[in-house]
Amino acid sequence: RRRRQAARTRGPGRTSDGHPVKLLVNLGALHELPAAAAADSEGVGLFRTEFLYLDRAQAPSLEEQTAAYREVFTAFAGRRVVVRTLDAGADKPLPFATAPDEQNPALGIRGLRTATRDPELLRTQLAAIAKAAEGSTAEVWVMAPMVSVPEEAADFAAAARAHGLRTAGAMVEVPAAALRAGAVARSCEFLSIGTNDLAQYAFAADRTLGSLAALLDPWQPALLDLIRMAAQAGERHGRPVGVCGEAAADPALALVLTGLGVTSLSAAPSCLGEVRAALAAHTLDDCRRLADRALAAPDAATARAEVLATLG
Ligand code: PEP
Ligand code: MG
Repeated sequence: RRRRQAARTRGPGRTSDGHPVKLLVNLGALHELPAAAAADSEGVGLFRTEFLYLDRAQAPSLEEQTAAYREVFTAFAGRRVVVRTLDAGADKPLPFATAPDEQNPALGIRGLRTATRDPELLRTQLAAIAKAAEGSTAEVWVMAPMVSVPEEAADFAAAARAHGLRTAGAMVEVPAAALRAGAVARSCEFLSIGTNDLAQYAFAADRTLGSLAALLDPWQPALLDLIRMAAQAGERHGRPVGVCGEAAADPALALVLTGLGVTSLSAAPSCLGEVRAALAAHTLDDCRRLADRALAAPDAATARAEVLATLG
């Protein structure tokens, strides 16, 4: 019996009745690569590439980027790697990509918008990703941060395709993208919900302000509403919808997200074991019931408390 239980807490994520939920790792620097690759996961759900661009006067060269991406694809041979293109601006300012004089940098030219102002930045990055993917057995996906309207997702997917990168997705981090998730999903191959920014923009609460932590709580029912919208839109259009923000790391919330229709969860490698075990102990219907309870709650604390009480 113990052996069977141990077996259920390894390998691909799934509920006790066999509904698959891909478990992936977040990766934000090359020194994290050994631990990330050693973790029991189906790949990388969020490869944050900002580290390549930080503390520099200019963007890294095509060759330098290619070498870094190749290192990651080699470590994840045979597995999926979702590369998030440069997400500069706001909490990630860069001298060559972001304007120093914006009054509201979080609402300024950031994320995918920097690519509109300087298309060469994105072109070089996509070229480097494509070059590194050549001959690799990693399943390389690319996704754009801070997509607000379907047209941006379509333009990004077209740019990716021009480099031979066929699986392009949009991050859902702006409430408008969640509200119109069907049209965004139709414009690309997958969606990935960034709960950190989605909470920041839904609650008009700076994600870096500790004093606003209660508003930024990932159990906020309004945030769960937006996640459900995106997940259901993905389901309608046959597109996978992941969560790669911090919410995916909480085992109880992972059950709720699964119940809302999310198809993959990406978190720090150290969090995956507990999430996998929680999934293995509940059916998809359990997850749906937990999601209904959370959505019916008046506030984040009640949502969490009711779900935890149900779990016992
Ligand atoms: C997010 O916003 O939730 C996200 C995953 O991206 P980042 O934290 O890098 O902004
Ligand atoms: Mg984000």
